Amino acid sequence: MSFQRFFLLSLGCAKNTVDSESMAQLLRQAGYESVAEPEQADLLIVNTCGFIGPAREESVEMLRELAAGKRADQTLIAAGCLSQLWGEALIRQVPGLDGLLGTRRWMDIVEVVERVRGWKGPEPLYHLPDEAATVGQDERGTLRVALQGASAYLKIADGCRRPCAFCTIPRIKGPLVSRPPERILAEARRLADAGVQELILIAQDTTDYGHDLGMKDGLAWLLEQLVQAVPEVPWIRVMYAYPGYVTPRLIEVMAQHEQILPYLDIPLQHAHPAVLRRMRRPANLRWVYDTIARLREAMPGIALRTTFIVGYPGETEAEFQALLDFVEEIQFDRVGVFPYSYEPGTPSARLPGHLPEAVKAERRDRLMALQQQISLRRQQSFVGRRLEVLIEGQGDGLSVGRSYRDAPEVDGLVFIEEELPVGTMVPVRITGAMVYDLVGTVEAVPQARERVQWVETGTTS
Ligand code: SF4
Repeated sequence: MSFQRFFLLSLGCAKNTVDSESMAQLLRQAGYESVAEPEQADLLIVNTCGFIGPAREESVEMLRELAAGKRADQTLIAAGCLSQLWGEALIRQVPGLDGLLGTRRWMDIVEVVERVRGWKGPEPLYHLPDEAATVGQDERGTLRVALQGASAYLKIADGCRRPCAFCTIPRIKGPLVSRPPERILAEARRLADAGVQELILIAQDTTDYGHDLGMKDGLAWLLEQLVQAVPEVPWIRVMYAYPGYVTPRLIEVMAQHEQILPYLDIPLQHAHPAVLRRMRRPANLRWVYDTIARLREAMPGIALRTTFIVGYPGETEAEFQALLDFVEEIQFDRVGVFPYSYEPGTPSARLPGHLPEAVKAERRDRLMALQQQISLRRQQSFVGRRLEVLIEGQGDGLSVGRSYRDAPEVDGLVFIEEELPVGTMVPVRITGAMVYDLVGTVEAVPQARERVQWVETGTTS
């Protein structure tokens, strides 16, 4: 069976996208050619997501679709988090699978492909070692980045050591493993040379960066290294901060450097201490209030994003009301709301008091409705003001982009009634506001920039 061309479908979060990019790099370096359509490929790979129920269903559905259309000369491999979480169970769900590769050993993709090539079965090939990747040694020289226009996700760590009772990620990914700083800085340098305008730092928990390397305030230290290493990159954005670990040092470093955006994504998950304790999450609300006050004092225009789980087992109407009151009081810029998802094998699955889906949905809608009013008010406060906007698309006399207040894929957009060069940073006067998006006019048309010239060959030093 000859494998020349591969089709790789990446599902789930930006961290999974980085793993997909790295697997594609290794396959290309091994002489395989990537193709855009499954029917053009000899090798079909799905980098699956196993985080919550709906994401798992999507992964199974995509695999079944590819398995159903698979030709006799094609091979189908399921990689990623769902393979790691389910293993054999996934094989039972998707007849026609030829191989499984766990997310912890994404770097073994070429070996797995070579082994599948000669594999005679009868069972599909399993490659699900569960030791956490000894990051650094095992990255096989790949660049742990995912480009998105003039922005790039930069993975700084993998895995998580937190005990959140509803989450499967520690079981999938293993404990936190920080990437060596010299590799992160070398990749940032290459991205800057390629013309990237925004670096988005990602991990399951960015605020835990360096903990396993014996560092204190590792993220603050890494940010300081980054602003020195790539002074020409206008934006550095921090995602996925863990409550309790947004330290005074981190706030100080964020406030000191204009390059580090006054934006923080800090998933709180709830605001009632009893629910937080049942979630095995930090339940010190005093800390939350103080830290948000400190962030807003140090960076008055800071955009705060958070996420909440509603309908957690045992959540009473009073506990939910406390969450509504908290959201009303804090006035976040961006809020994601998720109905509790039953996760077999997690501590929360064994809790009493699981709520009907209808109750969860009703509470999600009530919280979203409240946040939409808050979001609109906050958006309207920008009318008449000037924002730098990174242009990401244009056409039909319009351009679309993001301001510092908007992380890709999860927050809002800024629409400008003019066609502007993609990848440029533009000063925009805001003229209108919607619940999530803004409208504006350009103040100065910038020179077209070279599109990001990204060459993946050559390892980082
Ligand atoms: S910090 Fe995030 S990834 Fe880690 S266990 Fe908690 S919810 Fe899961």
